Amino acid sequence: MLAETKFAAEPLARPALGEPYLLTPGPLTTAYSVKQAMLRDWGSWDGDFRAMTSDMRRRLLALTGDTNGEFDCVPMQGSGSFCVEAMLGSFVPRDGKVLVLANGAYGLRAAQTMQYLGRAYTLIDKGDYLPPRGDEVAAALEADHAITHVIAIHCETSSGILNPVAEIAEAVHAKGRKLLVDSMSAFGAVALDVNEIRYEAMVSSANKCIEGVPGFGFIIARKSELEAAKGRSHSLSLDVHAQWAHMNKTGQWRYTPPTHVVAAFLEALRQHEAEGGVAGRGARYTRNRDVMVSGMRELGFETLLKDRWLSPIIVTFFNPAHANFAFDRFYELMKDKGFIIYPGKLTVVDSFRVGCIGQMDEHVMRRVVEAAAQSLDEMGVDTAAPPAAAIAERAKLAA
Ligand SMILES: *Cc1c(COP(=O)(O)O)cnc(C)c1O
Repeated sequence: MLAETKFAAEPLARPALGEPYLLTPGPLTTAYSVKQAMLRDWGSWDGDFRAMTSDMRRRLLALTGDTNGEFDCVPMQGSGSFCVEAMLGSFVPRDGKVLVLANGAYGLRAAQTMQYLGRAYTLIDKGDYLPPRGDEVAAALEADHAITHVIAIHCETSSGILNPVAEIAEAVHAKGRKLLVDSMSAFGAVALDVNEIRYEAMVSSANKCIEGVPGFGFIIARKSELEAAKGRSHSLSLDVHAQWAHMNKTGQWRYTPPTHVVAAFLEALRQHEAEGGVAGRGARYTRNRDVMVSGMRELGFETLLKDRWLSPIIVTFFNPAHANFAFDRFYELMKDKGFIIYPGKLTVVDSFRVGCIGQMDEHVMRRVVEAAAQSLDEMGVDTAAPPAAAIAERAKLAA
């Protein structure tokens, strides 16, 4: 059991007493005031809730730097993947073709979504260690003129790699194609400014860097693309154009909205703004990462990725080589100390992940490192150094 005093001296809003911190990329640890915002019932048709929806759309749009009113924001019920599917099904014409840029599970999921949609796609799969680069995107677009759209994953949450979207956007635009971005785990903490990066649509969700609770996502797209999406969707409930048109006409969501989640999200957006918006949030997460990674490295842990590609969102570490190390035990020992870590999601080597996002600051991250040190100690692991084979694999694949 967790002692109540454990969280007493935290400068940042902490989880409710006794709750562990979620060092996971969403659902994540939310502020008490965000949870508190859910203690009221709202009528979905009522003017008060319609005003909340409209306020939320406006605030989200503002985060993209769209000052000319060229974009609009369409919230959509469901988890993030529902919104990725809604985006692909609504913006890619039935006779279109998508270049999917994958370097982890979420890129591959986008490809799988295309398969379900029964629309043409082609895949660049970079494995776990490397980002897709602008020049190879340009070459792929040059080689295949049937490609109409490219989907890029902003932060590939399965490894934590921060993909170079600006460079990709430039290549896509130069070849006259359209870019769709899955910025699920980056939006709100890493800039995706429409004045700097050319894209037609992006998608994110309530329970990532804005620090809301799960229940819906949102698509931010050029109005011209939203207009063109009419009648394209494969799905009634995931039709972005229909949701947009209905919302603009009535102020309501088409089907039952997650009212409490929206109320919580608005409070999360207020806190995001108070923290200094995207820049402020990104700075706290970056500090979280830096403190955590340097502490973990002192214990002998090694990151999967080179520093250059480490995102401020989540970091993957190799499992230690030591014979006494067992991930399940490590997980339980960390949980006993108040921290829920995340198993790895890599194809080849054993790993685990530590998230840097949510209501946590560097003081919490220092305690995460202390908890890791103690847990290793309790397991009888004197160094967290990874197996030589993992390092060799990394050297080979990340060359
Ligand atoms: C979280 C996430 C998703 C959506 O996952 P859900 O489990 O459906 O919410 C999609 N792409 C990325 C990059 C993500 O981090």
